[in-house]
Amino acid sequence: MDAHELLPQEKTLLTHELLNKAYKRLKLEKRRDHMHELISTMLSHRTNHKDEEKAFYTMLERFVDWEGVMNADFDELADAIQTTRYPGQKVPQIQQTLRLIKEERGEFNIDFLEDLPVEEAMDWLTKLPGVGPKTATLLLLFNFYKPVMPVDTHVFRISQRVGLIGAKVTANKAHDLLLHMLPEEPVELFNFHVHMLRHGQRVCTFFSPKCEECVLHNTCNYYQDVRVKGIDKAA
Ligand code: SF4
Repeated sequence: MDAHELLPQEKTLLTHELLNKAYKRLKLEKRRDHMHELISTMLSHRTNHKDEEKAFYTMLERFVDWEGVMNADFDELADAIQTTRYPGQKVPQIQQTLRLIKEERGEFNIDFLEDLPVEEAMDWLTKLPGVGPKTATLLLLFNFYKPVMPVDTHVFRISQRVGLIGAKVTANKAHDLLLHMLPEEPVELFNFHVHMLRHGQRVCTFFSPKCEECVLHNTCNYYQDVRVKGIDKAA
């Protein structure tokens, strides 16, 4: 049997193995404190890392702390985070999120998520304005080392092209499907996520994927159907 004909779970494990060889394995270590990660991830929506960081540090420079950001004037806060996409939408989402955390926890602190089971932590986070499954899973995996699978645009695109998930699967459903096909250790999920992200930025790009230099090409449905057999499913 050719690699691209494997069952989705076998293919997912093979993809993980091939990307582990192609990219450096990383340790799962918290890169920033929990509140920083939450708000930065909200800022990062449709925004590159450099512009997200610029917005984050400009915001804290101008408003000093979370209390200051929560009470900032709308236009002034929108101006501080203007390097991100949709600052006008992000201002109320961030301020409302800060308000809810302060009201419920008495301080700007979400350390309590550490002790919650995954489902409860996901429920709590996705009730915050502007926090969907992607932001919640990124925070829970990167900071709290919970076994969840963040699916961003790169993970989603490559998973569909290779054939780990079906063409009609939504990004929200892909979180669960990929999670159940991968090893459950958070460090494995983390490496799969980061490697897929790198692969999507460097090789399996949205336009003109570089299939000839891709370590997944023997496994990939898109490559086998479109590049080798010339089948265009859209035709
Ligand atoms: S073979 Fe092409 S489409 Fe498939 S994963 Fe690699 S770059 Fe993407």
